[in-house]
Amino acid sequence: FFLTIEGCEGAGKTTAVNVIKQWLDSRSIEFTETREPGGTPMAENLRSLLLDHGDEKVADITELLLMFAARSQNLFHNIEPALKQGRVVLCDRFTDATFAYQGGGRQLGVQQIATLETLVQGERRPDMTILLDVEPEVGLARARSRAAEQGGQLDRIEQEAMDFFSRVRNAYLERARQYPEQFEIIDAGQPLEVVKTQLLEVLERRLGD
Ligand code: C5P
Ligand code: MG
Repeated sequence: FFLTIEGCEGAGKTTAVNVIKQWLDSRSIEFTETREPGGTPMAENLRSLLLDHGDEKVADITELLLMFAARSQNLFHNIEPALKQGRVVLCDRFTDATFAYQGGGRQLGVQQIATLETLVQGERRPDMTILLDVEPEVGLARARSRAAEQGGQLDRIEQEAMDFFSRVRNAYLERARQYPEQFEIIDAGQPLEVVKTQLLEVLERRLGD
């Protein structure tokens, strides 16, 4: 079972992943955890390049290709082998993030991405995607306070304009409209306890026996 978690900055993906891991452990379900971009040494290097490229401006298509290059490594080394062994794969972001960020945010549209999706993944698609949906204002405010607490810098995209995030959010929601059997949308603007309860309800319904 291939489970992916999606959402904009500050949606609470990390918290959700931890809740899901606890639930899987409590059920003694074997799982492999990974993230995108990343998941193998080379893909993690690509992630570093994508997030910090100094003064060199990255062409949108370069960004898109590096995302899929990282994904190809992750599929080859982690995702496909684990699925073949019958394990649950829990992936923090996958191709729907590319449709959202590169397609919506960077406005590359769906066609080129769909072409690369088929090239890199063949028929492989997530069995279920949990979309943590949050208004850009709320998500960005959370991401900002987290960055301030950690004394760190905001991620590259977090510094960009609010309309970028609105496009990302809308592209995610459009994906969910198009693939209703795949997507479970959770309103991540709700209090954490409510989000948690709804997450557990979704897991019981889709993965419980
Ligand atoms: O998942 P996480 O929030 O750690 O992602 C790290 C960064 O990579 C974020 O700033 C996110 O916006 C960006 N990203 C992206 N395009 C993707 C996936 C992630 O711009 N397809
Ligand atoms: Mg996170």
